[in-house]
Amino acid sequence: MNALALTGGSPVISQLGSHFSWPPITHATTKAVLDQLTTTVSIYDRSGVIAELEDALQEYFGVRHAVLTSSGTAAVHSTYAATCVEPGDEVIVPAYTFLATATPLFHLGAVPILADSDETGNMSVAEVEARITNKTTAIMVTHLWGTPADIDALLALANRHGLALLEDASHAHGATVHGQKVGTFGHTAAFSMNGPKPLSAGEGGFVLTDDDDVYHRVLLHGHYNKRCRNEIPATSPMHPYAVTGMGLKFRIHPLAAAIALDQLGSLDDYLNGRENVARYLCNQLGELPGIAVPRTPDGVRPAWYGLPLTYVPEELGGLPVKRFHEALLAEGLKEVDQPGSICPLSRFPLFRDPAPVFPHYPHRKRVAYREGQFPVAEQIWQHTLKLPVWHREEDLPLVDRYIDGLRKVIEHHTELLG
Ligand SMILES: *Cc1c(COP(=O)(O)O)cnc(C)c1O
Repeated sequence: MNALALTGGSPVISQLGSHFSWPPITHATTKAVLDQLTTTVSIYDRSGVIAELEDALQEYFGVRHAVLTSSGTAAVHSTYAATCVEPGDEVIVPAYTFLATATPLFHLGAVPILADSDETGNMSVAEVEARITNKTTAIMVTHLWGTPADIDALLALANRHGLALLEDASHAHGATVHGQKVGTFGHTAAFSMNGPKPLSAGEGGFVLTDDDDVYHRVLLHGHYNKRCRNEIPATSPMHPYAVTGMGLKFRIHPLAAAIALDQLGSLDDYLNGRENVARYLCNQLGELPGIAVPRTPDGVRPAWYGLPLTYVPEELGGLPVKRFHEALLAEGLKEVDQPGSICPLSRFPLFRDPAPVFPHYPHRKRVAYREGQFPVAEQIWQHTLKLPVWHREEDLPLVDRYIDGLRKVIEHHTELLG
């Protein structure tokens, strides 16, 4: 095999352009968007493509209510607001997640209490339990990279303490535990439909719940006037607030809803395809020194938002992860990613000292996270190299090139030492 590209050899992959794009845009997607464009581009109530997509999501997940939002961040915000997270409440969130799992809490005057990961990277049940106080009102769980967290144990814990279990299932559309879809275990769930998410609208999100009261509050939070007037019964004490709601507007764009409705029809096919590719990658890469593939717990079916590989430097003479990553990029494996914004939240200034951006935030002493507080999350994050999970048969030759590239760098790793 020729020398490493980093030391003057030729790269394994020379294919230009991007190696992975999402969502898949077919003729049917284009037609759906053009049809919507000529129908209407503004929808104020639960009708047209909004109603179609919400109905389809309710059926797909088997829940009573789905409410579309402009983003996943908005969906998380509405989830907290609609489950009555109040100023001073403590909500336990994963230390290792995308920032928007927790950031809306600042806007509600609530306190994000970070909990460290277990060895899978998902939230540790023991760490959550250790952080419960008499101010705790809810637990928010993320299913990182699409692999469900230990949801049975978290649900039992939440029930034992009388807490609401909420889900940020933004990585895990269609993932299941014992056949049940994530996003249906907790009291209320938020999903993103941002660009790369397993179900994509380009931009968008949604909230799921079986609780009528939460449904009405989600509407009041981000869908004021016509939709609230139509959907909240006249007998409800919330009906008089229908025109103003709570004053925010989080509606999805109908063109985005048209994209998502088209994507939802293919979601299970995409998930099946990703599962095959993920299995293949894990089988091929699992034997190599220097990297560990994720282990899927029994009864769990991930959505494979990404394939998080764990770099094990001790198996490659202590070669630093940065150098290993550089060597992979030099081989043309441009999709190998060291995640930036999905990291221990304690790294962000916002979680160390929110005062400069939230001068009146009253819980500055309780949100003053420091380096080293979440050692498991830090250790996992610093050694994670994420691959996208392709879904088509015709992607397999490229997948094989990625495997070749990883194998090459691993076999030649001594050339990078010293
Ligand atoms: C993407 C994401 C969000 C935010 O969704 P947007 O649609 O980008 O606003 C929230 N939580 C998690 C876990 C995410 O991955």
